[in-house]
Amino acid sequence: MMVGRQVRLIALASLIATAAYCSYQVIRIGTPQCTLAFLNVGQGKCILIIAPNGNTLMVDAGTQPYGQLGVGERCAKQQILPTLLRMGVRRLHVIAVTHPDKDHCNAVPILVRELRPLLFWLPVGDSSELDWQAVRAAVQEKNIRTIVAQLGQRLWLDARHKVFVEVLGPPDGMVVKVSDWSPNDASTVFKVRFGRITALLTGDIGATGQRWLLQSGADLRATILDVPHHGSKHNLETFLVAVRPKVAVISAGRQNPFGHPALETVAVLRRMGATIWVTGEQGSLLIRTNGQG
Ligand SMILES: [Zn+2]
Repeated sequence: MMVGRQVRLIALASLIATAAYCSYQVIRIGTPQCTLAFLNVGQGKCILIIAPNGNTLMVDAGTQPYGQLGVGERCAKQQILPTLLRMGVRRLHVIAVTHPDKDHCNAVPILVRELRPLLFWLPVGDSSELDWQAVRAAVQEKNIRTIVAQLGQRLWLDARHKVFVEVLGPPDGMVVKVSDWSPNDASTVFKVRFGRITALLTGDIGATGQRWLLQSGADLRATILDVPHHGSKHNLETFLVAVRPKVAVISAGRQNPFGHPALETVAVLRRMGATIWVTGEQGSLLIRTNGQG
């Protein structure tokens, strides 16, 4: 088991090392900085991490169609790609999708074709939905290396500046749609660490996934929380209290028909003194940190 995990770590590290050949350079002034961007993609999620060395990881890229066709493609072309260009990002190194729902993946095919990631980090869940099948087809067409998320995996984005991403969930061997585990609960949960600053990225996990994380013994405390499931009412107070974020980001569309974010979830975060940012109301959020504050 340990050997297998070591091999996986080495494989990821060598992939990232080859990324040094990439053409773009993120402008950095003074001390090393890590950037986290929570893009406003309407009712969906799209999170980008840029390590001090310029390596990039995108977690999710999709939006809810509201019955319109091709909305994922529009989101990629009109929102995500122009934003990345403005940020100086012309290549993604890794794309991860937390689970195969359209609002997390329907912009991915365009991004895969335009930005040719070196690695695609798959969720444990699968889906026969067309949007997800389009993602799989694009990844195959471009011959992108894939790896399935597994508890305990660690991806070093920048070894020199100690920026890494760790998989905290779901549990090993979990079968989606069996017992209490819904596809949402099977979302990959990532923890990003840079110095003293941490970010917990949670996909759409609900009560079952959150309860499991609480019992798993993982260190859930995080400076920045990507609030699960667009801030829905399926968030446990015990989970939010365990994370105790300073910044809580809710990716939810303006006046969405799902009631996101739920008042009770916002109230818990507010009681804890977290700064709350709702992408659909306030727009994209860019966080820059030197790993200390
Ligand atoms: Zn979602």
